[in-house]
Amino acid sequence: MSTPSPIDLASWLARRVPIDAGTEPAVAQDVVRDWLRAAMPKEWRAAAERGGVVALREVRPRAAYEAWYPAFADSGLAVAMWPREYGGLGVGTPLARAIEEVLAPYNLGRLNILGINLAGTTLLQWGTDEQKARFLPRIVRNEERWCQLFSEPGAGSDLPSLATRAVRDPAHPDRWLVTGQKVWSTWAHHSEMGMLLARTDPAKPKREGITYFAIDLRQPGVDVRSLRQINGDTEFNEVFLDDAVVPDADRIGPVDEGWRVARTTLSGERQMISGAGSGAGVDNLGGRSVERLIARAKEGPSPAWADPLVRQRLMQLWSQKQTLSWTNLRARGQRKAGRPPGPESSVGKLLQTRHNVALQEAWVDVAGLTSLAHEPGDDDSHRLVFGFLRSRANTIEGGTTEVQKNTIGEQVLGLPREPDPWRGAAWADIPRS
Ligand SMILES: Cc1cc2nc3c(=O)[nH]c(=O)nc-3n(C[C@H](O)[C@H](O)[C@H](O)COP(=O)(O)OP(=O)(O)OC[C@H]3O[C@@H](n4cnc5c(N)ncnc54)[C@H](O)[C@@H]3O)c2cc1C
Repeated sequence: MSTPSPIDLASWLARRVPIDAGTEPAVAQDVVRDWLRAAMPKEWRAAAERGGVVALREVRPRAAYEAWYPAFADSGLAVAMWPREYGGLGVGTPLARAIEEVLAPYNLGRLNILGINLAGTTLLQWGTDEQKARFLPRIVRNEERWCQLFSEPGAGSDLPSLATRAVRDPAHPDRWLVTGQKVWSTWAHHSEMGMLLARTDPAKPKREGITYFAIDLRQPGVDVRSLRQINGDTEFNEVFLDDAVVPDADRIGPVDEGWRVARTTLSGERQMISGAGSGAGVDNLGGRSVERLIARAKEGPSPAWADPLVRQRLMQLWSQKQTLSWTNLRARGQRKAGRPPGPESSVGKLLQTRHNVALQEAWVDVAGLTSLAHEPGDDDSHRLVFGFLRSRANTIEGGTTEVQKNTIGEQVLGLPREPDPWRGAAWADIPRS
């Protein structure tokens, strides 16, 4: 894929909807409704209003959505809380929620979600003005898709022990050469750019000698190999780096301080999974919200809703979701106020993944036999089973449940830190398998 042409900032800004931080929520909602009427194909609107997500899926193939998506991106509505010059509207949390309420029935899933929630969040906090102007508009328009190159075969939960090396190119000191292996890199095979952590000083303790880079994957030193999963999908990859080149201009944050930068990305990831990021969280994975489940439980000649134990279970899920949305509000508020990532993203991630597992279990129980076996073309049932199986992965990605509990134990409850006999030792002196 060739690098997209530069974006003309003035004409790009002119395509934003007329909403800013001072707009009244009710006025903003009218603006969004007008925009939807003018910019979204009539057929999609009619389908969403008639039959929600399921009807939309029938008239809106993925390719058509991708082709239309830049119009959504240009409106500013896809990342409403981002500054205007980088693709947003510069609005605060309450206004963003009011906007999202109007958008929600049209299921406008954000494309490039790792780009928006992980790379975008990180660049907004740590990027230079030049890096923000170069990368962010392309992220929002889905022109450059990003993946996360953090985990390695020997560094998952203990990510700071990573071994991929970056050294200054002796022939060109203004660039770095990167060698090593990454794994579990979601969608790397569809990505043009990667968020990369590499060790730049092995003599320092493990958290202190890491640097954060934006790496262009369109080069010979990068070999992306897909991993086929048990269900036939290929979501993850191994990424081999062999003297891959990164210009120093694409270093994000100071040399050897990449761990601090990475914490912003990891917090963005937890917020994405918990639903506090831009766009829908996993509660809406496959469009299966608690509200839809309640509606489904009321369907049919002998509805599951008639059973008081089912009603109790569904109302517990609904209450959990409300509590979670308040936790997410706190996380968004922190981010908007420019405060560093705090433990609330761990709390949100833990609650959301637990909630999602319980929600998907309830869905398959309410759906009954179709969860066990369905006809090959039955996309709805397929998604239901997929959502059920996928909810387990949410408890691992972005830091496992056990690791979130450690973080909460140490940072919220003030419990003693995990013992680490190598604390303070040079990374190079720590034994590794
Ligand atoms: C769906 C999915 C998508 C992913 N996408 C990406 C991606 O795009 N980019 C990327 O870089 N990585 C990605 N990952 C990798 C993910 O970040 C790691 O899988 C995760 O951090 C756990 O690391 P690990 O698999 O090496 O397990 P390990 O760290 O080996 O953990 C194994 C088990 O030990 C437990 N454990 C480990 N340490 C402790 C401890 N100190 N206390 C208590 N229990 C502990 C863990 O909870 C786990 O149950 C993805 C993973 C999944 C499942």
